[in-house]
Amino acid sequence: KDPVPSDIEIAQSVPTVPISKIAEQLGIPAEHLEPYGTTKAKVRLSALKHLAERPDGKYVVVGGITPTPLGEGKSTTTVGVCQALGAHLGKKVVTVIRQPSQGPTFGIKGGAAGGGYSQVVPMEEMNLHLTGDIHSITAANNLLAAAIDARMFHEATQSDKALFGRLCPAGRDGKRAFAPVMLRRLRKLDIPKTDPDELTPEEQGRFARLDIDPEAITWRRVLDTNDRFLRSITTGQAPTEKGMTRETGFDITVSSEIMAVLALTTCLADMRERLGAMVVANSRAGEPVTADDLGLGGALTVLMKDAISPTLMQTLEETPVLVHAGPFANIATGNSSVVADAVALKLVGADGFVVTEAGFGADIGMEKFMNIKCRYSGLTPSAAIIVATVRALKMHGGGPPVVAGKPLDNAYRSENVELVMAGAVNLQRHVANARAYGVPVVVAINKFASDSPAELAAVRAAAMEAGAFDAVVCWHHARGGEGAADLGKALAAACEQPAKFRFLYPLELSIKEKIEIIAKETYKAGSVEYLPQAEKQIELYTRMGFAGLPICMAKTQYSFSDVAEKKGAPSGFVLPIRDVRASVGAGFLVPLVGTMVMMPGLPTRPCFYEIDIDPETERIVGL
Ligand code: ADP
Repeated sequence: KDPVPSDIEIAQSVPTVPISKIAEQLGIPAEHLEPYGTTKAKVRLSALKHLAERPDGKYVVVGGITPTPLGEGKSTTTVGVCQALGAHLGKKVVTVIRQPSQGPTFGIKGGAAGGGYSQVVPMEEMNLHLTGDIHSITAANNLLAAAIDARMFHEATQSDKALFGRLCPAGRDGKRAFAPVMLRRLRKLDIPKTDPDELTPEEQGRFARLDIDPEAITWRRVLDTNDRFLRSITTGQAPTEKGMTRETGFDITVSSEIMAVLALTTCLADMRERLGAMVVANSRAGEPVTADDLGLGGALTVLMKDAISPTLMQTLEETPVLVHAGPFANIATGNSSVVADAVALKLVGADGFVVTEAGFGADIGMEKFMNIKCRYSGLTPSAAIIVATVRALKMHGGGPPVVAGKPLDNAYRSENVELVMAGAVNLQRHVANARAYGVPVVVAINKFASDSPAELAAVRAAAMEAGAFDAVVCWHHARGGEGAADLGKALAAACEQPAKFRFLYPLELSIKEKIEIIAKETYKAGSVEYLPQAEKQIELYTRMGFAGLPICMAKTQYSFSDVAEKKGAPSGFVLPIRDVRASVGAGFLVPLVGTMVMMPGLPTRPCFYEIDIDPETERIVGL
C-alpha cells in the first residue's frame, strides 16, 4: 500500500495464528512449552537438553550504521529478512529480538517490534507486559536493594551476639542451622565450619557483619518508568529508621545488572552463580559485598526462574520469534539473550537460520555481541548484516540536523548522491569492523520511499568497496518478507562462506590494554585518556581480581567518537574514560566514556498522548 499505514494499523489488520501452531511448525514438544494465553508461550530451557544432539543452525547477527534521529530500521530489517527466509525461501528460521522497555514505549521512541509489514505480533503484547520478565527483574532488583538497607540497619542497631543469633536462629530442637546460602559466605570468609554452634565469638562477628560502607553502595532501586524525579532520592526518612537516611536513587529496570545477567546466562545453575556474585557495595575494609553475602542469591533466582525462558511469538507472516531480555546497550550488552539464541539454533537445526539483533550501532551492539555475548555462549556467527539507510548516510555526510516537530529538510527528501557518498564512510567503517571478526558481511539497504535509484546504487558501491560480501536493497517495510527475498538469498549465500571467527582481544590482557584495543581498532581513536576516577577504579578492580572480565564500553551511540555531533567516520581523537564500573555477576567491566542517563525522563509530548483503548472492542490505538 502507498503510503504504508501505521505500524499498529498493519499489526492489527493481520490475524495471528495460535502460538501452539508456531510451536508445532518448529517441532517444540508440548512438555517444553508454557502457553501464556493464545499468542505467547515460554519455551522452557528443558528444550535445550532435549535437543542437545541436534546440530546448530546458521547464526546471523544484525547491527546498524551509527544511528541518527532518522532511524535505520534494524528491528524492522531483522524481522523482514526472517519473513523472507521463512515465508518465501522455504527455510527454517527464528528471529531473536529484545523485549522493549516501557520507558521508551511511553516516552520518546515508541515500541520496538519492527515496523511496516515486518513486525512481531501482537505488537501490543510485545511492547507492554509480555510475559512479565521485566517485572520479575524489578521485583528481584528491589528485594536486593531492600536487603542492603535492612542489613545495615540491623547491623547498626544490634550487638555481634544478637545479630548472629538472629541470622542463625535456634530451631525447635534447640540447634542452630545455617541457611544454604550462608555456607557460601563462610567459604568466602575462609571459615571451614558448617555448624553455627562451632563458630567462635570472633568468627560469629565476622560472619554476621558485612560492615557495608554506605558511601560505596552501587546497587540502586529500579522502575520500568521514565520517572526523572526518582533519579536522586533520600531513603529512611520515617522515624522508625532511626535517622539512617541515605542518598540513593532509581534507574530504569532494563539497566539493572539483573537484566544483564538474564541476557548472558546459559542455564539456571549459571544464573544462580551470576546473581549471587553480583557486587552491590564494598565493606569499610574495601572488600566486595555480593548478593550471596546478603543471603539472597537463591531467592533472586527463584524470582527469575520463569524469566529465564524466552517467549515465543510470531511475525506478520507466521514465522517464529523468540523475544528475550533487553539490556541497555551502554551499561550492558544491548543484545537479546544467550539462551534464546541457543534454543533457536537447536530448533532450526543444521539447515536453518537464527537472526539476532544487536542494539545501537555496530561499534557498540555488535562489538559487545562478538566480544562478550559470543564469549559467554560459545556460539559463533556465520554472517553479519549491517543495516543502512540513504537518509541516515546523508546525515553522516553533513546533512542538516533533524528538529523534532519540524518537517524533514529537503536534503533528505530529494536526490543528493554526493551527500550519500560523503556519509558512506560511516557504513564502510562498520563493514570493515564486522569483517575483522572473520565473518562475511551483508549490507541491508533499508529502502525509504524517497530514496532514488542512483542513491541506492551509491550505497551499494560503497559497501562493496569496503569488502561486503553483498549489499542488497530491501523493501520489507512496504512489502513484507517478499521485499527482503534478495537479502535473504544473499544472506544464505554468505552463510556458506568459510567463517573464521575471532575475538578482538584476549581476556588475559590488562583492563587498559583491552579498552585501548576497542578504542583504537573499533572507534579509530588516536589515544585513550584516563581521568583520575577511572585510574582509581581500574586499580581497585585489578586488586579485587576482576581484571580478566571482558569490557563493555558505555559510549554515545551517535558517533564513533565520544562526541555525538561528530558524524561520519571521525578518527585520531582522544577517547576519555571518566570512570569504570563493574558488573561482576553479569560478567563485564564498564568503562564510562561519557555521562550516562540511567533513568530517562518524559518529554513534553510523550508517546502516551497517542495511546488509548476502545472500551467496546478493547482495541489499543496509538502504540
Ligand atoms: P531500529 O531498530 O533501528 O531502532 P526500527 O526497526 O525499530 O528501528 O524502526 C523504527 C521506525 O522506523 C519504525 O516505526 C518503522 O516502522 C520505521 N521504518 C523502518 N524502516 C522503514 C522504511 N523503510 N520506511 C519507512 N519507515 C521505516
